[in-house]
Amino acid sequence: MRCDRGLIHSIESFGTVDGPGVRMVIFFQGCPMRCLYCHNPDTWEMDRGEEMSVDAILSMYEKNRAFYEPRGGITATGGEPLMQLGFLTSLFYEAKKRGIHTALDTSGWLYRKEKDADYDELLSFTDYVLLDIKHSDPLGHIDLTGRSQEPVLAFLSRLDEKHIPTMIRHVSVPGITDSEKELSELGKIIAHYGNITGLDVLPYHTMGRRKYQELGILYPLDGVPAMGKDEAVKSRETAIRAYQGERLRMELEAEDDELSGVEKGKDPECCS
Ligand code: SF4
Repeated sequence: MRCDRGLIHSIESFGTVDGPGVRMVIFFQGCPMRCLYCHNPDTWEMDRGEEMSVDAILSMYEKNRAFYEPRGGITATGGEPLMQLGFLTSLFYEAKKRGIHTALDTSGWLYRKEKDADYDELLSFTDYVLLDIKHSDPLGHIDLTGRSQEPVLAFLSRLDEKHIPTMIRHVSVPGITDSEKELSELGKIIAHYGNITGLDVLPYHTMGRRKYQELGILYPLDGVPAMGKDEAVKSRETAIRAYQGERLRMELEAEDDELSGVEKGKDPECCS
């Protein structure tokens, strides 16, 4: 179901890290997760933000269109854009009609198989996805975000089926998502999908702390130090090594299956 108006937290006119090229980044209001490292707690609730129409947002884009194109476009982020699925679909539909590249930055957690018709409609107007895999371990995922990992991977499967190019994002937090085991598991998980275009490992930072103070919420990661860029690079390398190892294992397994298929298919009379 489409909807012409949605609740927007803010709009950044010059985004360079949320999809290809220079982008207009639209922060949607509302999020069902409660990631311990979240630096945008002011996007969580639906009782704030500014109501905006699809046309008002795209008019802002049109004013600076030459500045974004040919490589850039719009990115819907948040918060969680899938909280306003009808509005997001209308926005991307209209953007595609105007020839604008669309990217979705999401945790994917709201995806449900029974809503495939609605999601497929959205994906038919989506050029690119940035998908957060918050924690590779299912229990660790619940501890970190308050939500299960299952719908996230189900959404990734759907993106793969629909051949949507997808960049995986992972925030590396000291003591939580920076262990060899956790990162290796992440690499192994994503090795099983054919639509992955890359892995972005972002270092945890503490810049959101002030917002927690303003909102009167306790900062959950008090005492956890920010991660340096070099450590994040190492975290990524660990995940990539595991990804490559798993791809190789899968290839060898497929070759073995093929060979044993040939063996089984042999005419017994020719085998003497
Ligand atoms: S999904 Fe994003 S906006 Fe929502 S709690 Fe997590 S980090 Fe914050």
